[in-house]
Amino acid sequence: MMRILHSVSDLRRLARTHRRDGKTLGLVPTMGALHAGHASLIQAAVASCDKVAVSIFVNPTQFGPNEDFSRYPRSFDADCALVSGEGAGVVFAPTVEELYPEGAASFVEVEGLSGRLDGASRPGHFRGVATVVAKLLLAAEPDRVFFGQKDAAQVAVLRRMVTDLRFPTEVVVCPIIREPDGLALSSRNIYLSPEEHRQALVLSRAVRRVEALVAKGQRTASALVSAARRIFAAEPEVRIDYVELVDWATLEPAETALPGTLFAVAAWVGATRLIDNTILA
Ligand code: AMP
Repeated sequence: MMRILHSVSDLRRLARTHRRDGKTLGLVPTMGALHAGHASLIQAAVASCDKVAVSIFVNPTQFGPNEDFSRYPRSFDADCALVSGEGAGVVFAPTVEELYPEGAASFVEVEGLSGRLDGASRPGHFRGVATVVAKLLLAAEPDRVFFGQKDAAQVAVLRRMVTDLRFPTEVVVCPIIREPDGLALSSRNIYLSPEEHRQALVLSRAVRRVEALVAKGQRTASALVSAARRIFAAEPEVRIDYVELVDWATLEPAETALPGTLFAVAAWVGATRLIDNTILA
């Protein structure tokens, strides 16, 4: 039987009971509108932890004033069915007031990294992400927390936070799940018209192009970035936000592609901002 919890104190009590019983706990933080990408995280958690909690919370502090907080897709009943179907035992679905009590003034700032990649074009975004994930980790004290490589800059920020704040939690990163045509799954893909969906394939094409060039021995960042930009040029209506090769830990620009270097892209397709990336072999 899957339980739905709404308060931090209920989640904390349940997590502590599990720990006392010698059970490991996995946490999968999400904003809901769950798809096969989220399902893969839940599957990884169920496979490696005795108990799994999935949080569903559209976190207002990670949205900018002109972003899509109010129209972000919400599908709570379908989400609960998916979580239950994947065998996770707990959904944690707090209200905004529960996670941000009246007058809330405390935030977690991961300096430096939070201003790079998505953080450069979305000021305050990673402050909101770090803050909400810190709240979830404090409430659940999980043994493992599961994130998708899809949000690679977010992974870098959160790894830094978990290390710096000495959270006793292991960060597990799961591969990007894609549509058969290559588009990385995202809750925001439902915003795309059929024509925009077609245009959006340019992101995964650019990523695959860079993977292919690296496989052939090209290691120079400027050459890889130029090749990716040429792929984007075939879809002039798609507006590039960034095309970058960076060190995955620091998000600082890399001059040479080494194993583990992050190649990441972000672009606007119509009114929808999409991201994609690869960790180079
Ligand atoms: P979100 O609900 O968009 O905040 O995402 C919740 C978690 O699911 C994050 O760790 C994301 O990186 C992960 N995620 C989202 N899309 C995908 C995908 N296509 N493949 C793998 N993980 C994903």
